[in-house]
Amino acid sequence: MDIPDIIIAVDGYSSTGKSTFAKMVAAEFSFLYLDSGALYRGVTLYAMEQGWIAGDGTIDIAAVEASLDGLDLHFRHEDGATQLYLGARCVEDEIRTLAVSGHVSPVSAIPSVRAYVDRKLRAFSKGGRVIMDGRDIGTTVFPDAELKVFMVADAGVRARRRFDELAAKGQAPVFEDVLKNIEERDYIDSHRETSPLRRPEDAYVMDNTHMTLHEELVWILGVIQGRFGILEAPPLSH
Ligand code: C5P
Repeated sequence: MDIPDIIIAVDGYSSTGKSTFAKMVAAEFSFLYLDSGALYRGVTLYAMEQGWIAGDGTIDIAAVEASLDGLDLHFRHEDGATQLYLGARCVEDEIRTLAVSGHVSPVSAIPSVRAYVDRKLRAFSKGGRVIMDGRDIGTTVFPDAELKVFMVADAGVRARRRFDELAAKGQAPVFEDVLKNIEERDYIDSHRETSPLRRPEDAYVMDNTHMTLHEELVWILGVIQGRFGILEAPPLSH
C-alpha cells in the first residue's frame, strides 16, 4: 500500500507497546522511526552519570539545564535498528534500565529539557515520512501530524510485558517494582504542567490489552485505508 510522506504521531501510556508498534509500521511502510522517550532517557542517564540526581531523587536542575546546549544525543539507524548515541557511545541498553526509568519522568517534566527534545525531534524529522512515539507528539511536537494514534492497555498487562522484556535482557526485575514504576510514570506524565500526556482529540485510540502484533498491523492498515482512501486490490490468483 502506497501512503504519502506524512508524519505519524503515536502517543500513549508507559509500556503500551508504542515503540514496538511504531517500529513495525516504519518497517512496513519505509518510514523513519524516532523514539522521543529515548532522548528523555538519554538526558536522564547523562544527569545520573554526572551525579546531578541525588539518592532521594532530587535533581540539580540548573546543572542539567546548563548542559543541554552541548549535549550530543542522536540516533543511528543501523541494520533496521535505531540506536541512541551519547556522543560516540551507544547508550541504547543503559537507557532502558529500571534505574533510568525511575528518574526519567521528573527529568522530562523540566520545561527546558522538553524544549531540547522537541528541537531535536523537529530537526531529525525534516522531510517527513516519519513515525514518532512518545507522550506529547500529537499534542505539542507535531500537532499537525496527518495521522495520530493513542495507545492504551491495562496496567497489569503492561507491567507483565515490561517485566518480560527486562528479564529477557538479563536484568532481575521484581514485578511489583515494574508495576509501581509504570503507575508512577503514568501519574507524573499526565499531571505535569508542560505538555502533559493526554489523548489528542483527533487521535485514533488503540486498546491493545488483548491484541497481537498482527492484529495491530491489521488495525493500522484499516485506519490508513479509511483515512487516506487508499485501497489496494487483492493480488490476482492464478
Ligand atoms: O517511552 P518511554 O517509556 O521510553 O519514555 C520514558 C519517559 O520519557 C516517559 O515515562 C515520560 O516521562 C517521558 N516522555 C515524555 N514525552 C515524550 C516521550 C517520553 O515526557 N514524548
